[in-house]
Amino acid sequence: DLAHGFTFPGITSRVIFGAGTLGQTAEEIGKLSRSRALVLSTPEQADAAKALAARLGGLCVGTFCDAAMHTPVAISERAVAQYRDLDADCVVSIGGGSTIGLGKAIATRTGADQIAIPTTYAGSEMTDILGETEGGQKTTRRDPSIRPEVVIYDVDLTLSLPAQMTVTSALNAIAHGVEAIYAPDANPILTLMALDAMRAFRDGLPRVADAPADKAARAQVLYGAWLCSTALGYVTMALHHKLAHVLGGSFDMPHAQTHAILLPHTAGFNAAALRDVMEPVAEIFGGSVGGGLWDFAQRTGAPMRLRDLGLSEADLDRAADIATRNPYHNPRPFDAGDIRALLQAAWEGARPE
Ligand code: NAD
Repeated sequence: DLAHGFTFPGITSRVIFGAGTLGQTAEEIGKLSRSRALVLSTPEQADAAKALAARLGGLCVGTFCDAAMHTPVAISERAVAQYRDLDADCVVSIGGGSTIGLGKAIATRTGADQIAIPTTYAGSEMTDILGETEGGQKTTRRDPSIRPEVVIYDVDLTLSLPAQMTVTSALNAIAHGVEAIYAPDANPILTLMALDAMRAFRDGLPRVADAPADKAARAQVLYGAWLCSTALGYVTMALHHKLAHVLGGSFDMPHAQTHAILLPHTAGFNAAALRDVMEPVAEIFGGSVGGGLWDFAQRTGAPMRLRDLGLSEADLDRAADIATRNPYHNPRPFDAGDIRALLQAAWEGARPE
């Protein structure tokens, strides 16, 4: 109901999208009036970082290739020390959420401008969210200064994303879109973007699963990832993201797989209380929201059971307890029993109604 009103916060990052766009990185550094970039990556993508550094020539002062999952503070501090030693004036993060997280961590400590070049669909690049870990604790905060100034989506960089990671990362992105449309601060523009993203994933992901190097299909999926990252970046998430955070933070479950397995269950749970709002999602995936997403995940070869990630059935009680300890927004009220039942279904891989 538009009469309730809404706030559209604007979309503040500059976005370059296409195939071969990595070649525009030097120009973008120049547009930011910077000239001393530190290029970041994980150890697994060090070759890509070094190749980019070589391509940037005199605009790059070094590489730091130790980014790790969940942005450990000790690694960020080492990277900041290198950033300062090299007298760098911006960071270029090439990789998934782990590398982009490191870029954000450096930016909050130094004021560095960031160019993010995402190579997964996780969607950190458009957001003002930074999660960091220290002493086994993950803390998350939001601030506009965390958001990268420029995001370069290059379809070519996603061609190498392994099949399993492609599917789980895409479902991770869809989860942002789903929670954006029932967010307390939802707005019609981001809802349009989230729904168009779901169509792009529905059509593109099976094609990518069949032919991982199909550039047009990869472009469609990366486009969906951009839309979902934008949705994540400007509204408040709910139950799904909370549960994924608990399983990642307290049980060390892998990020993308956990999101992928939880999504049909959390979306189905909330859809039961939000028929009108979620109707378009049911139409896009077919059948009910939970059942349609579950069928889609299974068809594309996603992992379906938390038990396969090494979570024990006994952990479910503790997970439900942690997830319901502090109140947070969710469109459908719930208690620990609801969450325990939802986790049981996700653990067993049961198909939601
Ligand atoms: P990741 O960044 O940890 O990447 C997983 C592995 O895949 C790494 O080894 C990486 O180098 C490799 N990889 C990435 N792209 C590749 C490619 N195209 N080809 C080959 N290998 C590639 O995984 P992720 O799922 O992208 O990110 C997860 C992390 O991001 C988590 O820590 C999560 O909390 C964070 N995250 C943060 C936000 C936010 O808004 N702050 C949003 C989403 C995710």
